[in-house]
Amino acid sequence: MIKNKKRIAILGAGGLGACLALELAQRGYQIDLYEEHSEPIKKATYVNEGKIHLGFIYAMDKGFNTSREMIIGALHFISNLKRWVEINPEEVISTPFNYCVHEGSLMNAQELAPHYQKCVDFFKEAKSFYKKSYLDLFDQIDATLLPRTKIGEVANPEFIQDIFSTTEYSVEPRTIAEKLTAALLETPFINLMVNTKVNSVSKNGSKLKVRSTRDGIKVEEEYTNVVNSTWNGLLEIDRTMGIEPLYSWSHRYKFGNKILIPLKSDELPSCTMVQGPFGDTVNFKGKGAFMSWYPIGRTGWSEDHRPPEWDQMYTDDERYEVFSRSFKELSNRIPALNNLIFSLEDVSPVGGVIYALGNTDVDNHESKLHTRHEVGIRSFDNYHSVNTGKYTLIPYLAVKVADRLEGID
Ligand SMILES: Cc1cc2nc3c(=O)[nH]c(=O)nc-3n(C[C@H](O)[C@H](O)[C@H](O)COP(=O)(O)OP(=O)(O)OC[C@H]3O[C@@H](n4cnc5c(N)ncnc54)[C@H](O)[C@@H]3O)c2cc1C
Repeated sequence: MIKNKKRIAILGAGGLGACLALELAQRGYQIDLYEEHSEPIKKATYVNEGKIHLGFIYAMDKGFNTSREMIIGALHFISNLKRWVEINPEEVISTPFNYCVHEGSLMNAQELAPHYQKCVDFFKEAKSFYKKSYLDLFDQIDATLLPRTKIGEVANPEFIQDIFSTTEYSVEPRTIAEKLTAALLETPFINLMVNTKVNSVSKNGSKLKVRSTRDGIKVEEEYTNVVNSTWNGLLEIDRTMGIEPLYSWSHRYKFGNKILIPLKSDELPSCTMVQGPFGDTVNFKGKGAFMSWYPIGRTGWSEDHRPPEWDQMYTDDERYEVFSRSFKELSNRIPALNNLIFSLEDVSPVGGVIYALGNTDVDNHESKLHTRHEVGIRSFDNYHSVNTGKYTLIPYLAVKVADRLEGID
């Protein structure tokens, strides 16, 4: 039953918009959920690597703020998701990540080790504070430097100087997106409007007016509260409310290639190559592999308020070429890739937008892209703009935004 008279619009049916809509519907609100694409949760939240960050990668943030934020998000990821969908974490997790220190890394193993230890120590503190475990499975985390004689078992020592074996995991994002989509469609209080692009939001007395275009027709609706969770559309819509980002920003387009063949745990190591513009492999066992090589897969860069429509700009041939070139570079470093047997039909060479504050790339020591803690909710009366920051933070932020709308925080 609808308990609350507030009319709430959520702009963008991605991960954040979907989780927030489900949370608010459970709390008795009626939601209009706007989505410009023909289906919900098919953008960044669908194509991403699914890594539930424990802060290891953010060693360049000397204030430790990003790692702290990620660990808190990671502790809430599965337990908050369980508020909206049934999920067995064992069925979606990858194999654990190896952190492979690549030649030319911005930090060496001796410099990385104290940061990893700090993550382990903060995890203990946060775990006992929040009384939650990582992915609802693990009560402690770890990053152990392997003897150099073991490097060859995982990676090519010509490129990889050291390896830390960690207890960080990814979750398979497509499976989770499909569960959330089913929940959205089943929930009566959520009015999902696909093919509906939001053009602007403006104040109208105490209300907010949302102007959109649906199937070529212009529509106007009034709401008591509006949440902008459009990620690639965030700044363009914020701007219509007179809101600008805290400082310079960038949108990047990054390929997150999938090879959709079932794998055994020992067929491909999950690896993150640090620290700089390198890449990742992820073994999702029965659900296939993910791989990205940054120097080839980061194809787009924009500092405009709305980035180009990159999803529609590449031909299939161009996409497969990005995949093939990335695969070649990665297999030089992670030789197990050469043993996978698959055809091009098994490859899903998709990409997605990454919005972040900062406008110099990750090969720069000083780049703001090494820090991601200035993310989350910015509220301007009854208009709320959410920079999700990372997939890791989605379920945690969704509950926080719902609390904000109810005046709880
Ligand atoms: C290749 C890749 C790998 C990544 N890997 C990781 C990782 O391993 N771990 C991690 O924590 N994070 C990762 N990220 C980042 C993560 O994917 C994002 O931070 C997160 O998914 C953003 O969620 P969202 O709901 O804000 O955005 P989205 O899921 O993109 O949802 C936004 C929605 O808004 C819609 N929209 C946009 N403009 C409008 C408009 N004007 N009107 C109506 N609808 C609109 C879009 O169509 C979209 O459906 C990765 C990103 C990429 C691209």
